[in-house]
Amino acid sequence: MKREDVRNIAIIAHVDHGKTTLVDELLKQSGVFRANQEVAERVMDSNAIERERGITILSKNTAVFYKDTKINIIDTPGHADFGGEVERVLKMVNGVILVVDAFEGPMPQTRFVLSKALELDLPVIVCVNKIDRPEARPDEVVDEVLELLMDLDASDEQLDCPFVYASAKSGFATLDLNKESHDMVPLFETILNYIPAPEGDETAGTQVLISTIDYNEYVGRIGVGKVDNGTIKVNQDCVLVNHHEPDKQRRVKISKLYEFDGLNKVAVNEATVGSIVAISGISDLHIGDTLCSPEHVEAIPFQKISEPTISMHFVVNDSPMAGQEGKFVTSRHLRDRLFRELNTDVSLRVEETETTEAFKVSGRGELHLSVLIENMRREGYEFAVSKAEVIYHTDERGKKLEPMELVYIDVPDEFSGNVIQKLALRKGELQGMSVNNSGNTRLQFSIPARGLIGYRGEFMTDTKGNGIMNSIFDGYAPYKGDIQFRKQGSLIAFESGEAVAYGLFNAQDRGTLFIEPGTKVYAGMVIGQSGKPEDIELNVCKTKHLTNTRSSGSDEALKLTPPKIMSLEQCLEFIDSDELLEVTPKSLRIRKKILD
Ligand code: GDP
Repeated sequence: MKREDVRNIAIIAHVDHGKTTLVDELLKQSGVFRANQEVAERVMDSNAIERERGITILSKNTAVFYKDTKINIIDTPGHADFGGEVERVLKMVNGVILVVDAFEGPMPQTRFVLSKALELDLPVIVCVNKIDRPEARPDEVVDEVLELLMDLDASDEQLDCPFVYASAKSGFATLDLNKESHDMVPLFETILNYIPAPEGDETAGTQVLISTIDYNEYVGRIGVGKVDNGTIKVNQDCVLVNHHEPDKQRRVKISKLYEFDGLNKVAVNEATVGSIVAISGISDLHIGDTLCSPEHVEAIPFQKISEPTISMHFVVNDSPMAGQEGKFVTSRHLRDRLFRELNTDVSLRVEETETTEAFKVSGRGELHLSVLIENMRREGYEFAVSKAEVIYHTDERGKKLEPMELVYIDVPDEFSGNVIQKLALRKGELQGMSVNNSGNTRLQFSIPARGLIGYRGEFMTDTKGNGIMNSIFDGYAPYKGDIQFRKQGSLIAFESGEAVAYGLFNAQDRGTLFIEPGTKVYAGMVIGQSGKPEDIELNVCKTKHLTNTRSSGSDEALKLTPPKIMSLEQCLEFIDSDELLEVTPKSLRIRKKILD
């Protein structure tokens, strides 16, 4: 059965690009609000910290109505994925709306969520918002979005996505910039026409996969999920089963069932295929559980909740100042609050320690824990925390593995050198670099999670608050060795704005940059410890042809012709050759040079 009367979509947006305003406007125009009723609460991002940090952590549900269709809109966590939440949200929907500011263009924060949507083959509607802004540049932004989609390997259908131009603030959307519009109808119509209706077998046994968990003090845990097959009814007996633990089944009775309506949950007696429902009254309901009819118990496959990668101790604050400002200072307060957090945050672990004064809290990266710490401090909890430590694993052969992170950075050009250098010292490997025309450089690194510990604050200082940094967990990899803060600088070569080669040099002027044969390098720069790019003399030598040009440690790479000392400019001309070159900096006086 195809539920033509339902559409399930996720909304993806960089903070401040207008997601909340857009959803408010869709709500208003959908008639959910009576004519003179104000939008009481902007529920889409109720967590104050999310706004301040520019990230949304909790996903929320809203439903708007257009004509005879109910459109469930699910907010995605715009930022780092703390436990696979993005994928869980996306599994409930049949398409996404990407909201992009018509002036700012796509931002790296949305890149990760978008890439997940593309991987799941979801169609994308691009909503270029804020076209009323005087400095709006919608045409360029469309190109930038297409570029991003191509970069993320979007399919041909996904690249052929509709672009809807909107001013959420003024309440209109249009498919054609030259066509006037006074309402959101073009966006509503695009959703109906372009996003497939959910499908399933309504005659089959019930299957509802719990994809997110909400928590409410009065009703306890609330599971939210989509009805994949069959129907679900109040008073129905169900079996609760988990894909990863199929033997642990439980019989439960459905006592409270809701659907979303506007910003509220409304009680319903039954729901069928394609509906997104909320279920309360079942204790110990977990993400990944499937509610099934007893006659047909089959769990829906579900990705495992990701394991924590980092831990910290939260310790009762026994300083003489303790309790003077905070409301909650005792061990009991701390314990209750931490364990309560487990109700909604599935990727967090809290453990008691030998002392009642301290708790070991583990999560997905330093940011995950720091968001919790800030939330708690704001609520009036006073406590101390230890330095974060990463959680190591070992492989079958006993080799030490460590958690890795992918880091996306967006900084004004003048700070990129500093960032590259600092992260290189922390064992970060530069994987991509591009300079856009708005004066920002985008950098991508792969780095051990421990290399990021304590870096965020440094990064904010180094970039004078102008940098954006996002990291996502990238699996476990063999231990990368101790981090030594000894290296002195880095050397980069560019080709058409992309970094093609990159190396480090240390205080003894030693360090190497290998550039592949045929590479046409048009610019290079060397960055010293100060982080400032300056003029430099370089040693350039030709090496023998190498097959594996990245094997800087191989013997072959050492067979060099005698070095020639050149200026950076000469060196860069020289590099445009058909042989592999080795470039080493000769002095630490450096300057950025862009050669035409
Ligand atoms: P969110 O963080 O994505 O939820 O963004 P908000 O909806 O809170 O919007 C961020 C800011 O942009 C607010 O000050 C809005 O008033 C403003 N804004 C939202 N949509 C528009 C628009 O279409 N035009 C203009 N000029 N401003 C907008």
